[in-house]
Amino acid sequence: MALEQPVVSQVTANRTDYDYDLMIVGGGIVGTLLACALKDSNLSIALIEAETHSQAVAKAQAYSITLLSSQILQGLGVWDTLRPQIETYNTVRLSDAAHPSVVQFLPTDIGTQTLGYVAEHRVLLATLQAYLDGCSNVHHLCPAKVVQTKFQTDGAILDVAMADQNQSLRTRLVIAADGSRSPLRQQAKIRTYGWKYWQACVVATFQLETPHNNTAYEWFWEGGPSGILPLPNNRCRIVWTVPKAEAETMLALSEGEFTERFTRRYGAHFSRPTLEGDRYAFPVQLLHSSRYVCSRLALIGDAAHCCHPLGGQGINMGIRDAAALAQVLQTACDRGEDIASLKVLKRYERWRQWENLMILSVTDLLNRAFSTQLLPVVFLRRVALHMLQTIQPFKSLTFRLMSGLIGRTPHLAQR
Ligand SMILES: Cc1cc2nc3c(=O)[nH]c(=O)nc-3n(C[C@H](O)[C@H](O)[C@H](O)COP(=O)(O)OP(=O)(O)OC[C@H]3O[C@@H](n4cnc5c(N)ncnc54)[C@H](O)[C@@H]3O)c2cc1C
Repeated sequence: MALEQPVVSQVTANRTDYDYDLMIVGGGIVGTLLACALKDSNLSIALIEAETHSQAVAKAQAYSITLLSSQILQGLGVWDTLRPQIETYNTVRLSDAAHPSVVQFLPTDIGTQTLGYVAEHRVLLATLQAYLDGCSNVHHLCPAKVVQTKFQTDGAILDVAMADQNQSLRTRLVIAADGSRSPLRQQAKIRTYGWKYWQACVVATFQLETPHNNTAYEWFWEGGPSGILPLPNNRCRIVWTVPKAEAETMLALSEGEFTERFTRRYGAHFSRPTLEGDRYAFPVQLLHSSRYVCSRLALIGDAAHCCHPLGGQGINMGIRDAAALAQVLQTACDRGEDIASLKVLKRYERWRQWENLMILSVTDLLNRAFSTQLLPVVFLRRVALHMLQTIQPFKSLTFRLMSGLIGRTPHLAQR
């Protein structure tokens, strides 16, 4: 891998006993957002990312951004830059396979202007990275890889490999934003619970001829749910969950065959789609860390939890983790407390662990309930869908839960 010149090559050594108050390992969306959210904290921060800027940005993912996440991004001050580059959805349609009854959510169901947004990874991360330029307290070390971490009673020493040098940097607190495999979580011997699903997600983008009408779809098929999200410039993104073997078959199809398969199933809603860019598949897992914090370490984003992509919750849980942790750390600073003490970090864990567990449980339950043809389960889920469509408070409560509007709201979202 050709290494780009590190963005920051001058690290202030021995500024105090610590090089940094906080070192965030992982410059994905969640780690970068945390660094941005601590702009006014007076904490000295290093954000360390193993990939180059261009590699980190050039991922094909697109995310459903819930209303709470959009409020957090507004509070951060990046919304005006993001908004012209992302798409809204004003209708969400849930269908149980080909069954004719459909549950339709509209903004009036929850008293808002819209239901959510869809943002491409490159847009979101590039916007956050640009915002970092104005954060004088943050050093963005990229590409730079943490190869070893030694925890001590009063801090941690991170060995960081950069293009032209290796450095040992000392910090009060380490944040693991290093993704689902989180080497830091493993090193701290934090146990995780969960399982790998029998499914994988095939992801593809289509250019459409007829307008997508800002509608998001979730279809529950026996093999797994399929979500279709509207993208800017009249495109749509499908996240098609199927059994693993079928995912391989689908990727092996020619572009024409894959488009034909999409059209056979969804052609009534998306006429004459043209496949755009590459298709890819990713495995699906449920993972939850038994602890989010231990002495001198906190986990955020995929390092703490991974969920089924159903309902597009993954990145939103991570965005809420980052906003919550930023608030906990800022409050501790204001009170003159040790930001890395277990007492302070536990406030973040108590806030986020149960909210995330609830989302993980709901997405798992829905995936299992809709991926079976057992008659009693089919009956029960059809009753549930009917109730969802006809009982307004139930409908409103469900959508508010999935939008992040139930639970504790970070200050960042209230600005
Ligand atoms: C292939 C794939 C496709 C996906 N598609 C979708 C999708 O379409 N929609 C959706 O909602 N979700 C999708 N997801 C899930 C979504 O990408 C994650 O929920 C989200 O990216 C989590 O963000 P994060 O910042 O916590 O972790 P990540 O995005 O995984 O970022 C972790 C970062 O840490 C860095 N890192 C790791 N170790 C080190 C180290 N030792 N030193 C320095 N840096 C390090 C990595 O380089 C990486 O940039 C997908 C996931 C995968 C794997």
